[in-house]
Amino acid sequence: MKTFLKIIPAFLALAAAHAAPLKALIVDGQNNHAWQATTPVIKRLLESSGLFTVDVATSPAKKGDMSAFKPDFRAYKVIVSNYNGEPWSAETQAALVEFVRGGGGFVSVHAANNSFPEWKEYNEMIGLGGWGGRSEKSGPYVYLADGRVVRDPRPGRGGSHGAQHDFVVETRDTKHPITAGLPAKWLHVKDELYDQLRGPAENLTVLATALADPGKGGSGRHEPMLMTIAYGKGRVFHTTLGHSVEALQCVGATVTLQRGTEWAATGKVTQKVPKDFPTAEKTSSRE
Ligand code: ZN
Repeated sequence: MKTFLKIIPAFLALAAAHAAPLKALIVDGQNNHAWQATTPVIKRLLESSGLFTVDVATSPAKKGDMSAFKPDFRAYKVIVSNYNGEPWSAETQAALVEFVRGGGGFVSVHAANNSFPEWKEYNEMIGLGGWGGRSEKSGPYVYLADGRVVRDPRPGRGGSHGAQHDFVVETRDTKHPITAGLPAKWLHVKDELYDQLRGPAENLTVLATALADPGKGGSGRHEPMLMTIAYGKGRVFHTTLGHSVEALQCVGATVTLQRGTEWAATGKVTQKVPKDFPTAEKTSSRE
C-alpha cells in the first residue's frame, strides 16, 4: 500500500508534465548575428525535447518604435533571449525584471550577453557580458585558475573572442542539474569562444569553461561557457555558445540549452544525456 501511495503522486506529476508543457518565449528582432536563422533552430531544439511550447516575440527593427514591443512575459515560465540590440522601453525592461525577480526563468544565448550594457538589472541577471563599452566599471573578469573561480578587477575591455574553431568544453560543476551526467570534457563544434567577459557576477555559478587558446587569439584563460545566476526568486541560465546555426546544432550546445532552459523554467532537469553527446575527441551534430 505504501508503495502504491508513492506511485500515485509520481504518476500524477508525470501526467501533469505531459498535460501542461512549459511555455517558453524567445525574444529577438535585433542582433549583430543571424537571428532570423538561429531563432527557428532554438525554437525547434526546445520543442524537440518534448517539454516546451515555444512562442517568439520579435521587436521592431533598428530605429523602430520600441514602445510597441511589450511581450507578456508573465504568460511564460521562461524567456529565452536571442536579442542584442537597442534598449527596450522602460516599461518592458521593468516587466522583465519583475518577471525574473518574481521567480521566472531567463536564458541568455551567445550575443544576448552583448546587449543592454547600460541596463543595471539586466547585467545583474546575466552576471557577465561583453562589448558595448563594457569595462572595469561593469565588474570583474571571471575565469577559472587552478580549478577555482577568480574575480579579477583589473582594468580593461569587456568581451573578446579569437578565430572560430572547435574547442573543448570542460564540465566544472558535476552536481548541478544542468551539467550532471555530462562528460568531463566534450568537443564543441566551430564557434566563437567568448573571453574576457565582465559584469556584476553576483550569485553566479560557473558550470562549464573552455580554455581560450592564445594561438587562436584567445585570452589564455579558462573562460566561463555555461553559467547560472540566481536573481531574486528567479533562475537564469547563461550560455555563451551558439554564434551560428552550425554551433547551435552541436549536440553539446543543443542539450545544454535544452537542459538549461528547463532548469530556468522549473529548477529541475528531467532530460537524460543522449547517447550522441560529443566526447572529448569527437564532435557531434544534429541537422
Ligand atoms: Zn558571435
